[in-house]
Amino acid sequence: METERHDAQVFEVNDNALAVLEKRYLKKNEAGDAIEEPIDMFRRVAGTIAEPEVDFGIARGLSGDEARAVSEEQEKRFLDLMLSRKFMPNSPTLMNAGRELAQLSACFVLPVEDSIDSIYDTLKHQAVIHKSGGGTGFGFSKLRPKGDVVSSTMGVSSGPVSFMSVFDASTDKIKQGGTRRGANMGILRVDHPDIEGFITCKHDNDEINNFNISVAITDEFMERARADLDFDLKNPRDGEVIKTVRAQDLFRKIVEGAWLNGEPGVVFIDRINADNPTPQFPIEATNPCSEAHLPAYDSCNLGSINLERFVLTAAQAEEKIAQNGRASGPRAPKETDCVDWVALKECVRTAVRFLDNVIEQNDYPLAEIARMSRGNRRIGLGVMGFADALVKLGVPYDSGRALELANSFMEFIDRHAWEASRDLAEERGVFANWEGSVHNARDGRRVRNATVTTIAPTGTISMIAGCSGGIEPLFAVAFLRRQAGMEMPDVNPEFVKIAKDRGFYSEDLMRSVAEHGSVRDVEEVPEDVRRVWVTSQEISPEDHVNMQAAFQKHTSMGISKTINLPNEATIQDVADAYTLTYSVGCKGVALYRDGSRDEQVLSKGSAP
Ligand code: UDP
Repeated sequence: METERHDAQVFEVNDNALAVLEKRYLKKNEAGDAIEEPIDMFRRVAGTIAEPEVDFGIARGLSGDEARAVSEEQEKRFLDLMLSRKFMPNSPTLMNAGRELAQLSACFVLPVEDSIDSIYDTLKHQAVIHKSGGGTGFGFSKLRPKGDVVSSTMGVSSGPVSFMSVFDASTDKIKQGGTRRGANMGILRVDHPDIEGFITCKHDNDEINNFNISVAITDEFMERARADLDFDLKNPRDGEVIKTVRAQDLFRKIVEGAWLNGEPGVVFIDRINADNPTPQFPIEATNPCSEAHLPAYDSCNLGSINLERFVLTAAQAEEKIAQNGRASGPRAPKETDCVDWVALKECVRTAVRFLDNVIEQNDYPLAEIARMSRGNRRIGLGVMGFADALVKLGVPYDSGRALELANSFMEFIDRHAWEASRDLAEERGVFANWEGSVHNARDGRRVRNATVTTIAPTGTISMIAGCSGGIEPLFAVAFLRRQAGMEMPDVNPEFVKIAKDRGFYSEDLMRSVAEHGSVRDVEEVPEDVRRVWVTSQEISPEDHVNMQAAFQKHTSMGISKTINLPNEATIQDVADAYTLTYSVGCKGVALYRDGSRDEQVLSKGSAP
């Protein structure tokens, strides 16, 4: 860990994080050299995101001085949360706030209507969004099927898959202004006549490289598959039945694809729309990693709380219990006693305010997107560092206690996020489309934001915060890193600490752990430690799915989570995992069988 010191403030940053920040996030001069330090980046972000406090303050009757004081106070809080690595906004906010390209959101969905005009307008809009660092999702279900007539030319349509490859090819040409590669989600409804070609399009065709694909599965389809009935594929233009298939055969095709290389994923589209807080704008697609369920032209800015930062040491927990006067004699603290709920609540409230301010400061790439985003004010507060929190608490990821903790954390965060949004509505008013929303219709609840919670993958921001990603389990306890021509063990620092505290540390052992990636079969490691340091591929698919469901229960939009399966998992195992995901109330599933993709980003026992 290197420590940067500026005034009294500190940001601890490890080498990996520093490398990422220097490459993509920090301001650079024309020669390409970074001209800000990480701490300056956080100052730039905090200052920019606190600015709207002044106008909001004046609008609710504060004097200019009072409003500026509120803005300064919030700026300090925002900065403190980021420097202490308790909260990070999504990458575009870190990269772009306070700079010329002030596009701050990670997720967008664009419409694809059944006309050349619509398709090519959207193609241009996709390029504009990618350039600004955002990811795009598209529902292709309204496009007429391949071979259908094009009346103006008497020709035939080439169908959704072929138009998707046009979007894919364009993505290759736009390198997101040098920040990140364009990411897309392509979605087709399960009842579209081209669904079979869509399911295999990434196997048959190595041209589609910039898309994740998902099948939008309906409740009717799931019921027909369960009852082994036929299922109609219909032309979206007029509802004409083009083909009738056995629902189970189609389900099998989806599952075979997922077994082969993880694609397609699925989203349960009826369930997503049943929970859509703005039903006046139906949802046909999601963002690339599928956690944000958005109507056409909507966007979402994300931010994630690092749960590990709220875990107290045993001594701190004892002290807290003593202070709270719960002196019921000495007892081992329960896990929930080891969480600083007061600080977590404060963090949630500040994060919601931060994300609501991001909507004000966002320079949207299109007028339609500005209108829809400001109209719905969707924000996506999520979590990261969950696996790190569990190891600190001594709780195995695949245990009932971990599910209870997931439930406690997310219920608490979601409840306080809504409370913060309600308080913001009192200060600033409800979101513009509130009247037609379920918040009005169902319970007259006045809130500032259509949604408040979403769990993102946190691919880069978890690296910057130095914690485990999203709600995923640990990928490895250690791996071998090639450095100066040598293979050096890179071991999770918390594991090193425990090994030293418990007296089983040795350099040989650390090397052995790095070679295995996991500690399951390393006998020198005590049994209880082995149990807690479980890694993703040792966790059963059911435990992965149940964890996703536990978080989903308290999340406004979706969850980014990979259900990991061992290489030897069968097609039936994949089918079971998909069925289970549906039955426990998840909104979708992304699954990965170890080793099933040629280029695996991280593999155990080798450097990433
Ligand atoms: N995303 C993208 N390109 C990327 C990575 C992410 O467009 O290379 C978008 C995508 O919509 C994804 C969202 O950002 O679902 C959040 O991803 P993640 O949490 O990994 O982003 P981070 O903020 O950590 O960079």
